[in-house]
Amino acid sequence: MTETVIQVAYLIAAFLFITALRALGRPDSARRGMQLAAFGMAVAVAATLLHARIVTYEWIAIGAVLGAAAGYPLGMWVPMTAMPQRIALSHAFGALAATLVGVGEYSHDLAVGAITRTHVLALSFEVLLGSLTVTGSAMAFGKLQEILPGRPVTFPYQNIVNLVLVAAGVGCLAWLIAYPIDARVFVSMIVIAAVVGVLFVLPIGGADMPVVVSLLNSYAGLAAVATGFAIDNNILIIVGALDGLSGLILSLAMSKAMNRSFANVLFGAFGADGSVASAEAAGGEMSETNSENAALRLAYAERVIMVPGYGLAVSQAQHQMRELGELIQKRGGEVRYAIHPVAGRMPGHMNVLLAEAGVPYDKLIDMDEINERFAETDVAVVVGANDVVNPAAQTNRASPIFGMPILKVADAKSVLVLKRGRGKGFSGVDNDLFVDPKTSMLFGDARESLLDLGAEVKSA
Ligand code: NAP
Repeated sequence: MTETVIQVAYLIAAFLFITALRALGRPDSARRGMQLAAFGMAVAVAATLLHARIVTYEWIAIGAVLGAAAGYPLGMWVPMTAMPQRIALSHAFGALAATLVGVGEYSHDLAVGAITRTHVLALSFEVLLGSLTVTGSAMAFGKLQEILPGRPVTFPYQNIVNLVLVAAGVGCLAWLIAYPIDARVFVSMIVIAAVVGVLFVLPIGGADMPVVVSLLNSYAGLAAVATGFAIDNNILIIVGALDGLSGLILSLAMSKAMNRSFANVLFGAFGADGSVASAEAAGGEMSETNSENAALRLAYAERVIMVPGYGLAVSQAQHQMRELGELIQKRGGEVRYAIHPVAGRMPGHMNVLLAEAGVPYDKLIDMDEINERFAETDVAVVVGANDVVNPAAQTNRASPIFGMPILKVADAKSVLVLKRGRGKGFSGVDNDLFVDPKTSMLFGDARESLLDLGAEVKSA
């Protein structure tokens, strides 16, 4: 009877997860999607607590308290701009849990002398993928948090070393299927996978880390699938498969949005050094403006497009952007918001920020659609965006961002750029848009500048 209740609860949880994923695909339903997923997780955890194999609840309670104590600050206090490294850390913990379950199951099987070849196969996959994800995600966290050097780190014969290690890991797995009780090989396999995780992330540049984090998410999902098979738990298999596939789809979508092949992201060295493209940038003088003059243009513009980027997130200026947009609209101007798929530091970053600030969803326009509108736009207001509006991505073959689709801001009749100074974008290359004769630069923190513009537009 209890087993039936558990399986029905798992089915409900799986339905909730799938519905949640669907809802997460649109900004207006994303919040509901998160709530559905959280509810699904609560159902799955509650059902698992009924399981007959649970020996004592004390350790579970201690784990839950410790997990909540660590999870609450991670969820509530980490700023949006640090989300990629926070997610990397979560993957490392998730994968560590899967690896520990694998180690626990293996030692239990050894102790009771009940180890089988199929079981050891599932456990081996679990610890291989789990261990690789733990160290890979920890490396990604270190690079994103700038604890480790963000540049790609390479050394002679790296590919050969990697191949030998992967072959050694697969060799251990094959050995274990033949001799399941060889615990030394089981431990060696975990260590080898941990080293592969480090070496896999080492040669990838900091700019590509979000793609790597998403791929590691996929590995963590597959480790969960293997855990599900190993401990005969259906919800782990379903959730792991959803996680594994959605992580892979997200990595592919991010690579596509940067117009890079997946192989190039993983084995190229993008973002390592912008000096070539910098040297080839046309150069020229930036034309500086002040908030009074800039506001006059906005106050009398008929069509305005706001272009948010990473700097908006840094200065948390989304509310000020929305307020400025409303002021322009009150004066009769039409305002839209251009959303580049990889603006900011994670997919959907700008959607999340602007939706949180209350910008209506129908004003958030995706890149392909908004690009057709720039030519008829009086002022394009670029707020803390750089790479996603860099014309070099279309014109400079030597640029590391060449081929990345951009927002065609330069097609607008005039461009106003709000940024703190002459800092480069994440890829580290110069941006000729800033020296274009139709561009005016308003230097300062995005939030302050938007506040000033708002005040000036009001009094214009
Ligand atoms: P970006 O190229 O990183 O440029 C951000 C700009 O914001 C900088 O030039 C900086 O210039 C300015 N800035 C920083 N803090 C500011 C503040 N407080 N006030 C005003 N301006 C500020 O940003 P992006 O155009 O959004 O491009 C995103 C980049 O991340 C792309 O290269 C993309 O490929 C990469 N990426 C994104 C994702 C994703 O999923 N979103 C994933 C992987 C990689 P100053 O220092 O002069 O102020």
